[in-house]
Amino acid sequence: MIELKNISKDYTVDKKVITALKDVSVQVNAGEIYGVIGYSGAGKSTLIRCINLLETPTTGQVFIDGVNLQVLDKIALRQARQKIGMIFQGYNLLTTATVYDNIAIPLKLTGLSKEVIAERVEKYLGIVGLSDRATAYPAQLSGGQKQRVAIARALSHEPEILLSDEATSALDPNTTESILALLLEINEKLGLTIFLITHELSVIQRLCDRVAVMENGEIVEQGTVVEVFTQP
Ligand code: ADP
Ligand code: ADP
Repeated sequence: MIELKNISKDYTVDKKVITALKDVSVQVNAGEIYGVIGYSGAGKSTLIRCINLLETPTTGQVFIDGVNLQVLDKIALRQARQKIGMIFQGYNLLTTATVYDNIAIPLKLTGLSKEVIAERVEKYLGIVGLSDRATAYPAQLSGGQKQRVAIARALSHEPEILLSDEATSALDPNTTESILALLLEINEKLGLTIFLITHELSVIQRLCDRVAVMENGEIVEQGTVVEVFTQP
């Protein structure tokens, strides 16, 4: 359902070319939790941003459900992106909007009715366990609660795929565990495919079915978590 074929990405800064990705190929099945692990600078963030074309690959192709996103026009791409939600280390919440509006405002932009929006907000705030915080502002929430709002916002578009860019990296160990448990529940109960990047092995071990290890823009190992992290 997610297929990245021979993806390379070069950034040109002051006429110098920085190669962030070199011929990376990944295939993720529907319903799977797939993790990419590597040190800072390995290319993980560039790779995950290629999945929804937040970054344009220099070469290579991105397929979602067999559709090459790079050939779509603006409207078709916007529709295809509805299938893909994303959460970030820094939450990316609107600080001047309530929890309710952080979820409702992006839904309004998709043209849904007020009634449907209200149902969605309630449903997904319930799933992340924050039904009682709809009128709070982000500054009144803990880091874990902010990430729960971001997860509810992503889920409210009812995507098939959730991309997670270091979603627990700013959280303490107990809060991290509660967010990882929530992601597992989302995968099991809602059937979402999850693609995550992390620099923490514990996150991979807790969640992932399969894993890729990245170094210097390349995948150096790929397989099940047991295959990749059990010493021969
Ligand atoms: P990771 O997420 O594993 O830390 P990144 O994908 O952020 O790795 O970065 C991979 C490489 O690409 C690094 O050398 C980084 O400096 C470079 N890079 C990432 N984004 C940009 C950008 N917008 N412009 C120039 N270089 C970039
Ligand atoms: P609009 O602002 O488009 O008229 P509504 O009349 O649905 O939207 O809601 C007005 C405001 O009340 C919303 O922007 C939101 O901040 C808040 N609100 C609506 N429903 C709820 C709810 N169930 N829980 C918390 N706040 C809500």
